[in-house]
Amino acid sequence: MDFRRQITAVALFFLILFLFMNPNQDSIIYSILKGIAIGGLAMVFISYAFPNILKFKSDENDDALKTESVDSDFGFSSVVKSHYERLLTQVVDLVTVVNPTYSTGVYMVDKKGQGYTRQDSAQNDFLSFIPNKNSIISEVVNHNKPTVIKKNKHQEGWIEILGDRTWRGSETILGFPISFSNHIVGAMLVFTDHFSSMNDQDKDIIEKLGEIITHGMTDLEQMESLMVDNYFNSRVTNLFDQLEVKSDESELFESIRGLCRAFFQYDKLTIMMLDSDKTSAKIKLVDGLHEDADEGQSFNLSNTLNGLSIQENKMIHSNTWFDEFPEMNRFYPNDRDAFNFMSVLSMPLRSNGEAVGAISLERLKSKKYTDTDARLFELLCNTVSSILNWQLEYNRVHQTSIHDGLTGLLNHKAFMDRFDEEVSRAGRFNHMLGLVVLDLDKFKSINDTYGHLYGDYVLQEVSNIITENVRAIDVVGRYGGEEFAVLLVNTDIQQCIPLAERIVQKIAEKTFIKNGIAVNVTISAGMAGFPSHADQVRELISKADKAMYGTKHAGGNGVTISD
Ligand code: GH3
Ligand code: MG
Ligand code: MG
Repeated sequence: MDFRRQITAVALFFLILFLFMNPNQDSIIYSILKGIAIGGLAMVFISYAFPNILKFKSDENDDALKTESVDSDFGFSSVVKSHYERLLTQVVDLVTVVNPTYSTGVYMVDKKGQGYTRQDSAQNDFLSFIPNKNSIISEVVNHNKPTVIKKNKHQEGWIEILGDRTWRGSETILGFPISFSNHIVGAMLVFTDHFSSMNDQDKDIIEKLGEIITHGMTDLEQMESLMVDNYFNSRVTNLFDQLEVKSDESELFESIRGLCRAFFQYDKLTIMMLDSDKTSAKIKLVDGLHEDADEGQSFNLSNTLNGLSIQENKMIHSNTWFDEFPEMNRFYPNDRDAFNFMSVLSMPLRSNGEAVGAISLERLKSKKYTDTDARLFELLCNTVSSILNWQLEYNRVHQTSIHDGLTGLLNHKAFMDRFDEEVSRAGRFNHMLGLVVLDLDKFKSINDTYGHLYGDYVLQEVSNIITENVRAIDVVGRYGGEEFAVLLVNTDIQQCIPLAERIVQKIAEKTFIKNGIAVNVTISAGMAGFPSHADQVRELISKADKAMYGTKHAGGNGVTISD
């Protein structure tokens, strides 16, 4: 629309010019053109003097971002949009990690404001469009907090969201609003076919994931605002494509090195992250000169050029740092004169607005950084900051989703995933594995006698004993309610026996004391080895299980090896 406006203004200018130059001022055409020119000038005058009376359509669109009806693409350019889509895919994938039976749909208000369009591309139960009047989505977006909706109500709403099929009546939708620029613009809906399968921990995790989308969109908006300059567009496409949300910290740092090499000239690149004491920073990556300060080293922020952007939480751009900061060193005391660095671009990496690290580019004598360099560098660092934050949140949520809330051990699904991985790794490298399955003896009677909370306490203590008695590389999971499983990595089954016996013995020796109540418990263990007993996960489990029941039948409190 802006473009059309500009064309109109240029046409009006030439028209007036023509009217002034035209010698034949009495013709009918001249009069008509004069009329058009006067009309045009009047419009220009009114639009400036009384903008509310004559509102151009593009103004309305701009305003729409501030009001409720928001474009579903948020006006993001294609590069930022592709990042946004990746973020959504990741969030939707993570819901499946929390519980594979959940399916997720992320919806945003559509362009015309008539309903909600599905944003994520995963194949699942949710339909691609939900009309505005739908009672379920209305309930979700009208509450500024998570909403649980059970099937028995809202008959019509269900079909509009999930299509027509046979319902059991126990289906549940958990919905979270998503906001952008302080307005609710959509919702994340998670469906499960039985309400009992959705526990409080899952709800918390899913709520956090909804928040990640909301935060992510704000980050993207900020990046977008830096990209308005055409100069950056082609470069930025590259930049976004190379930064993966899912990659880990070191991969991210490596791609920053690649990007910096492509876009900037420098003699030293340093990526550093603030230590927990907040007075020093650790150097994570160095490219170029290594002699002065290298990867793995820490330095004190105070009075250093490279710590300054973190301390002041702003970009440092200087082509004569020597003169500008006469009292400072670069990383360490007295390193000021050791090398001839002159120009510096140093930008903080931020989390929630606070500096948590920095990226610095430095150049030796007489090579300068321009303002354009500085702007591109700022864009790069802001993008990196957002991705680092997404990674942190992703990892936090991922950790919660794979661990059991009571004991902190891997949950059943996560244990099985690791088990699969370890078996295929052991197959490739000809390693051996030992599986130990443990089940507390007569545990029900502890619950019955001392209560469920007491039982929980015993489960926590037992899990501590197990973890303390295996190596860090071994994999421990809460296999079921009062059942545990341990995978001893790269260990021969004969070597596993003393380990399993030690665990069983330690548990039997321990007196559990809480609230003045002292209790002793025992546990039964069964073992099977890879590849001596089986080379498949299922068979290994069934053999170890059978061995464990052998121990139970013999009175419990012992270890049996599979035959
Ligand atoms: P057995 O010696 O045959 O293994 O008997 P058992 O009582 O240990 O086994 P059973 O399978 O009959 O009972 C297991 C009990 O574990 C029943 C259940 O209440 C309890 N349980 C499972 N999960 C939890 C939990 O998270 N907390 C508590 N407190 N108890 C749990
Ligand atoms: Mg059991
Ligand atoms: Mg038991």
